[in-house]
Parts: sequence; structure tokens; C-alpha cells
Amino acid sequence: MDNPCIRCGKQRIDGKSWQEKSGISIVTRTKTICPDSGCQKILDRMIADRIVKNALMLKNKAEAKLAREKLLAVS
Ligand SMILES: [Zn+2]
Repeated sequence: MDNPCIRCGKQRIDGKSWQEKSGISIVTRTKTICPDSGCQKILDRMIADRIVKNALMLKNKAEAKLAREKLLAVS
């Protein structure tokens, strides 16, 4: 299976695997990681940053929507 690292292009390797419930069955999921631990650390940071940014964006969106609704309610 071809699964290169998005940063360095090295073939990613299997990292942690865990079991997850999917409906009535249990599936095994495996997280692939970069063989370069330094690179993987940066990737982890990038992913964490993206999650935070997404959450912030969603929050801002929700707040903007609320503000607009308030404005409309007043006028
Ligand atoms: Zn890498």
C-alpha cells in the first residue's frame, strides 16, 4: 500500500492500532506514522494546529451567525 508522508515523502509505517466499535462489529484501526520521529512530531503539531484552527473557525462562524441574528431581531 502506497502511503507516503506528506512532509518528507517517506513510506509511512504502522503505529498505534486500536479497536473501535462500528455499528455492531468491532474494527481494528491502525494509525500510520512517519518513520522519522522528528518529522512525525512536526506532523502531530500541524494536525493539532489544524484542529484548533478549524474549531476556532467554526466558533467564529457560529458567533457571526448569532450576531447577525441578534441584529436582525433588533431591526
Ligand atoms: Zn515524514
